[in-house]
Amino acid sequence: MKAQQRITSLLDPNRPLLSVEFFPPKTEEAVARLSESASRLKQFQPDFVSVTYGAGGSTREKSARVCTLMKDQIGLNVMPHFTCVGASREELGQAIDDFHAEGYRNIMALRGDPPKDQTEFQVAPGGFKHASELVAFIRKRQPEICTGVAGYPEKHPEAASFETDLDHLKIKVDAGASFITTQLFFDNQHYYDFVEKTRARGIDLPIIPGLMPALATGQIKRITNMCGSKIPPALESELEKAEADPKAVAEIGSNWAREQLIDLMKNGVPGVHLYALNKAEVALELMKTFRARFA
Ligand SMILES: Cc1cc2nc3c(=O)[nH]c(=O)nc-3n(C[C@H](O)[C@H](O)[C@H](O)COP(=O)(O)OP(=O)(O)OC[C@H]3O[C@@H](n4cnc5c(N)ncnc54)[C@H](O)[C@@H]3O)c2cc1C
Repeated sequence: MKAQQRITSLLDPNRPLLSVEFFPPKTEEAVARLSESASRLKQFQPDFVSVTYGAGGSTREKSARVCTLMKDQIGLNVMPHFTCVGASREELGQAIDDFHAEGYRNIMALRGDPPKDQTEFQVAPGGFKHASELVAFIRKRQPEICTGVAGYPEKHPEAASFETDLDHLKIKVDAGASFITTQLFFDNQHYYDFVEKTRARGIDLPIIPGLMPALATGQIKRITNMCGSKIPPALESELEKAEADPKAVAEIGSNWAREQLIDLMKNGVPGVHLYALNKAEVALELMKTFRARFA
């Protein structure tokens, strides 16, 4: 097992972090494929990988299994995601103690999205309403654990305004977060503006941009509809023109992500988090581009 390192201890102004996000697959075959992909990605030395945590606790066991696989078998520094969905404080506390006992030293602390059968987030009996409460809880319960939180360059879809969303981000940061990872975006200007506005609010934590290549038109429209990120008209029209050819679509999406990555690296970001949708080839290409600049 690789010793799990706190992400704060890895941050270096001269060497941005490289991280990749995975989601727990549904089938045994897909878990085997993911394991193989993660082993291949290791050659590009991700500073950490993260594993999503599904709504309603439905994939809790699957998330835990993928985290263990990445940590113990592949030897990666792993940050499990963790949400407030469907759990009381006692249950959350037990899970946090378990993460710590299993060696994890980082948690992505989230409120979570409503489960599929619900339209709005419901607070679980004895649970938390906002991610900020989970951050404060983790800080108190297991102070050794470093917490990442989500930030939204194009505003969280439920927030009344960008300004109130920033107020809430400040609460989350003041509760003890260690760094911010952003929601995906396709126009880097959204990220740069977001960084400027958060700095003006007195938030000085590292803000790691999250990059997701658009690999399939239907999929990316579904994802952006849900998370509120916009597809720039230039990208949308290219994707639509190529719609009948899935390979061409994936190539357009990968090229767009590569251009975003190059621009972000030039502009001195503290790291890059790749939402690679469990697609090794795409992640490998982006990681190669990253490591060509930052060995
Ligand atoms: C990097 C990243 C990883 C993610 N991973 C997962 C995952 O693994 N599993 C999953 O289910 N989802 C995941 N998500 C999605 C996330 O759970 C949703 O975006 C969710 O709707 C909000 O989570 P949050 O942690 O940002 O919540 P919060 O920070 O609680 O914010 C949610 C909403 O409440 C508002 N708010 C916050 N605090 C207050 C307050 N004190 N008073 C009033 N309003 C407030 C905010 O403005 C916002 O509109 C991820 C998102 C990102 C960006």
